[in-house]
Amino acid sequence: MAQEVRGVIAPGKDEPVRMETIVVPAPGPGEAVVRVQACGVCHTDLHYKQGGINDDFPFLLGHEAAGVVESVGDGVTDVVPGDFVILNWRAVCGNCRACLRGRPWYCFDTHNAEQKMTLASTGQELSPALGIGAFAEKTLVAAGQCTKVDPAVAPQVAGLLGCGVMAGIGAAINTGNVGRGDTVAVIGCGGVGDAAIAGANLAGAAKIIAVDIDDRKLETARGMGATHTVNSRTSDPVEAIRELTGGFGADVVIEAVGRPETYKQAFYARDLAGTVVLVGVPTPEMKLELPLLDVFGRGGALKSSWYGDCLPSRDFPMLIDLHLQGRLDLEAFVTETIELTDVEKAFERMHHGDVLRSVVVL
Ligand SMILES: [Zn+2]
Ligand SMILES: [Zn+2]
Repeated sequence: MAQEVRGVIAPGKDEPVRMETIVVPAPGPGEAVVRVQACGVCHTDLHYKQGGINDDFPFLLGHEAAGVVESVGDGVTDVVPGDFVILNWRAVCGNCRACLRGRPWYCFDTHNAEQKMTLASTGQELSPALGIGAFAEKTLVAAGQCTKVDPAVAPQVAGLLGCGVMAGIGAAINTGNVGRGDTVAVIGCGGVGDAAIAGANLAGAAKIIAVDIDDRKLETARGMGATHTVNSRTSDPVEAIRELTGGFGADVVIEAVGRPETYKQAFYARDLAGTVVLVGVPTPEMKLELPLLDVFGRGGALKSSWYGDCLPSRDFPMLIDLHLQGRLDLEAFVTETIELTDVEKAFERMHHGDVLRSVVVL
């Protein structure tokens, strides 16, 4: 049966978000309804609200979530009601050319729920952020978007793996393939950069150099496992990284800002045959100019990391287990827990750079 719950929507470009009653249909074939327990506030939610992603208003915001499966539709076998799950925004298809080649983390045909959630007042269809829409008491998703993990973890911590924290950790351990003894530099120490530092630490990097323009953020980065910090407002980060790595540069440099100038820093701060991983998200008007001879002559790999090249079914349970064993501090990413009614205020705090993550707890 369809049910009515409360949810936070972005009604139009740059308008404040507001609470509305939304209709969540009963799950159809391949779908699941999840009772949301916690959902982090991500920059991507703010981009939706600002009209920076597309114009399909109204959006049902929220996508870094964990909760309990309430009901499933026909043909769903991976999860059952009562399962504790983290929601992911890349439910792999199993049939596209990437999946068939055994690289499902690149899946080119990820899917979401077929049915639409709607506004109770007008019947208008909602566009769920990243196909999730979890600033709501319940949400409808494709069953493949639910990844079962150990329920011993706190929901406000688990949900973070659904987006930014996974992107950062994955940039280090999946895309960058950081290994024991490697030197790593991370440029930009927001939530994703800090997660990349935690990922490099988990992988056994010998030296982890955090670069940012804000000393407060560098302090937090130390807590995440950075062994050295560089304030790039006061010193040249390329010089500093070379100095800290015997004059050579880092084996892996992770760019978590998404700007041409920081990408160039990453490019020149890596050792010969090193790897650059771009996990920061650029905007459409940005252009990159580099001497092609340097691209050739320095060798190595220039990679991009989507969602940390994660495979939720492989990576979420593993990272939750490591967290429960005390080997991955995910609590450090939760700056504050808030109510569903506080999302607009959380956007303001995010804008001022005051928080790593505000997490709505239901
Ligand atoms: Zn696929
Ligand atoms: Zn996100």
